[in-house]
Amino acid sequence: MEATKALVKPNTHQKVFIPELVYFEPNALEYPMGARIYKWAQQQALPIHMTTSHNRITNLPGEGELEKYRIAKRTLVVGVRKTLEFDTSKPSAEYAIPIATGCMAHCHYCYLQTTLGAKPYVRIYVNIDDIMNRAAAYIEDRKPEITRFEAACTSDPVGLEHISGSLAQLIEFMGRQRYGRLRFVTKFNNVDSLLGLNHNKHTRIRFSVNADYVIKQFEPGTSSFANRIAAAGKVARAGYPLGFIIAPIIWHDGWEDGYAELLRKLKAEVPPEAEPELTFELIQHRFTKTAKRVIQTRYPKTKLEMDEAKRKYKWGRWGQGKYVYPDEQANTLREFITEQIFASFPKASIDYFT
Ligand code: SF4
Repeated sequence: MEATKALVKPNTHQKVFIPELVYFEPNALEYPMGARIYKWAQQQALPIHMTTSHNRITNLPGEGELEKYRIAKRTLVVGVRKTLEFDTSKPSAEYAIPIATGCMAHCHYCYLQTTLGAKPYVRIYVNIDDIMNRAAAYIEDRKPEITRFEAACTSDPVGLEHISGSLAQLIEFMGRQRYGRLRFVTKFNNVDSLLGLNHNKHTRIRFSVNADYVIKQFEPGTSSFANRIAAAGKVARAGYPLGFIIAPIIWHDGWEDGYAELLRKLKAEVPPEAEPELTFELIQHRFTKTAKRVIQTRYPKTKLEMDEAKRKYKWGRWGQGKYVYPDEQANTLREFITEQIFASFPKASIDYFT
């Protein structure tokens, strides 16, 4: 059948993230997840250090800012999450559920570069029971309204799942919540450990996808498109509601062909049974002045276009605004991609364009 003919070949042997250095807060070892990760780090023969706080890792090795940054991205810090007030996470969910912070990938445009400031290392929180109890309280407060939790606001948790196992616990917890739903987005493909879980369709897994040009130029360190889409097929066949986030949408030479090709490839790979529940979220590229400065320091050769003169300034709620595409360009992108989505997936829904 044409619709299921693979256009892209997955490389199923892609390696998972193994950090170069691991730090533990001493009390993290009192939790089952912390003890398990400690044993794993020993088995991997990783250098292990202790730290008084996951918020204060100061003496990371490396010559100069760039090398320090690269090493920080390959440093894992295992700690206890103390702040159990969840941030809001509009428009995709009511709350951000904090299971990890930081990411080992190097997407040039990633907003974590500015939001994490001087702390780009990867943190996993071992007190998952406290986090789930807090989520249960939020659900209780809002019921009978459904409460949605986004697990990928400050990290890409699928890329860490082979170390933490947190998503598996959250997915099964949320499967038992009548009024709770989980969602997360990823650029990684290691989903095999999630396929057999009792998710009860309460978790929506979304894959971040893009035109070939964007993936090749700006997303080093992530799983390839072929592997992401193969993983999307697996989770859909395991009965999870599936979604795609096309972000950041970037205006580039040949963008129409690039995004049309993306939708053709998705159509060829998504199992037909996933189509009725399929969702899309569309996010145009934006940057702040601070982000531009950080990106140009960390990725000096980046081809990411960040010319304020070509953008529209959008005021932010807390002072610093963002540069987005001017309305006409944004509308052209939105209309074209919307048409392509509905041409391939007439039953899908588009949650938002922002
Ligand atoms: S995979 Fe996601 S979280 Fe990680 S660097 Fe890329 S955009 Fe940021």
